[in-house]
Amino acid sequence: MIDSGHDRSSLHIATLASGMDLSLPVLTIHGARKGPVVGISAAIHGDEIVGVQVIRDLWRSLTAAEIAGTLMMMPLCNPLSFEALSRNTPLDMLDLNRTFPGSDEGWLTDRISHALSTKFLSHIDYYIDIHAGGTFPVVDYCYSVNDERFARAFLSELLYRPRQMYPGVSAAVTRDRGIPTVVIELGGGYIAQAEYIARGVRSIRNMLRAAGMLEGEVETRPGQIALHELNVIRPKNGGLCYPAGDHRPGTEWPRGTKLAEIVSMKTFEPIEVLETPFDRNIMVLHRNCVTRVNPGDYAFMVGNLATAERLA
Ligand SMILES: [Zn+2]
Repeated sequence: MIDSGHDRSSLHIATLASGMDLSLPVLTIHGARKGPVVGISAAIHGDEIVGVQVIRDLWRSLTAAEIAGTLMMMPLCNPLSFEALSRNTPLDMLDLNRTFPGSDEGWLTDRISHALSTKFLSHIDYYIDIHAGGTFPVVDYCYSVNDERFARAFLSELLYRPRQMYPGVSAAVTRDRGIPTVVIELGGGYIAQAEYIARGVRSIRNMLRAAGMLEGEVETRPGQIALHELNVIRPKNGGLCYPAGDHRPGTEWPRGTKLAEIVSMKTFEPIEVLETPFDRNIMVLHRNCVTRVNPGDYAFMVGNLATAERLA
């Protein structure tokens, strides 16, 4: 319920060539009691809109009275890429999540990451960044960056403990500050999203309990799988990607399982077959229907179950 603790503001980035103001919406809920500052971001990649909807639900359902501390939410970190439904910022073609901590003397995207670093990521005690599979793939896992208890509270079956993050991600800014940081990869693609949104809201409420912002017992999920090794299966060739079956996240497959055929748009004949790479694979990201694929795209992602750990 929107109440007097709910505060809408905006973070100015720049005046665009057209004279339009580029600013990011900021949604803050000031809790009735003292507590941590929790930050949640979404749409750092503009083609990943599940997180926007999760934040909308949190904004409308949480009350100031039930919150200890301050919840600061950035539902739309890259408005230009959201408008274009594109991963990268259309004006300079940069990937916002490779430019952190950014610069106020760089390209427009560098300026967005600089503003987020200095006005948002530097003010929070916990950080949750919500991503999705994008326009075509469906994804379901969660990065355990530096605080496994906090990451496990999202309750996804698959946790990924990366040896290193991609350079320039927002999560590296808060990790380097030593604050608990979790990156969520949830939903996306050509599939109904209601279940992912509902699960995202329920699980983030559980994370807010783990952070001490909401009251109540922290729910746990025994049997979560911690992955150390992920393989992104990127086709060498573009065309149409025809999935070879239902390889949804969480399903297990042996080595050499056919995931998809890439069909040439010149000949309509298959020119490449995508297969599982490990002896024991668990799906992390898939394409559930025929989609356009570019060479080098995220087509599928699998985890190596041989080096994974099932958690108590
Ligand atoms: Zn993303």
